[in-house]
Amino acid sequence: MGEIFTSLQGEGPLLGRRQVFVRFSGCSLGCSYCDTRAYLRRTESCQLEAAPGSRMFIRIRNPLSVDMVIECVKLHAAPEVHSVSITGGEPLEQPEFAETLAGELKSLGMRVYLETNGFSCDLFSRIAEHIDIAAIDVKLPGTVRCSRDQSDRLIENELACLRRSSEMGIHTIAKVVVLQETGERDLERICREMPSVDAIVIQPATGQCMSELKLLALHSIASRHLGADRAMVIPQMHKALGMM
Ligand code: SF4
Repeated sequence: MGEIFTSLQGEGPLLGRRQVFVRFSGCSLGCSYCDTRAYLRRTESCQLEAAPGSRMFIRIRNPLSVDMVIECVKLHAAPEVHSVSITGGEPLEQPEFAETLAGELKSLGMRVYLETNGFSCDLFSRIAEHIDIAAIDVKLPGTVRCSRDQSDRLIENELACLRRSSEMGIHTIAKVVVLQETGERDLERICREMPSVDAIVIQPATGQCMSELKLLALHSIASRHLGADRAMVIPQMHKALGMM
């Protein structure tokens, strides 16, 4: 486990909702724009916020048990909390832990929000019954350090996760991080194959300079395929606000 803390959701259509963040450490992808590099490897200890919103942290040596994580989440639970965000790193790289945790949170009546890079539809399917909201990445070619074949397989899995999530009635958000050099044809190809998700978020990579024309062109593609109500361009607001 990497860290557990309270903050505001800084991405996508749930922007500004208060959440308890449970961040897993460890992710095998290498996205050029990764903003959680400190958690790409499993960390030796977990950083726990001592009281909600206090930004006072204590460190506990890993591994934490699911029960310990639940106790910490309970400490942060409050009426103003919208949901618990299981995030990373990549939570599905620790599938048993993620599945048990999501199941326990759900059984406690908490709303569960999963953020995943969607690398495995099989693993996503294992946890899906416990998830209320799924934010699933679609990594455009050229944004992850891998071969074209690996990129195609990743995209296949991501689209399969989105399909499964929609079919199961989970509130489904497709997140596509874009760069100035993002090919419009690449986005077009993905949108053509995308199921009818609740929202598709075009997210400009933080720190990248993107032209207004490019963003409008990318938004038009998403909107044409998924509908004007579902297509949106939203940057990472927690970065803009200097929040965790
Ligand atoms: S999937 Fe997420 S955590 Fe993993 S490298 Fe990409 S941006 Fe970073």
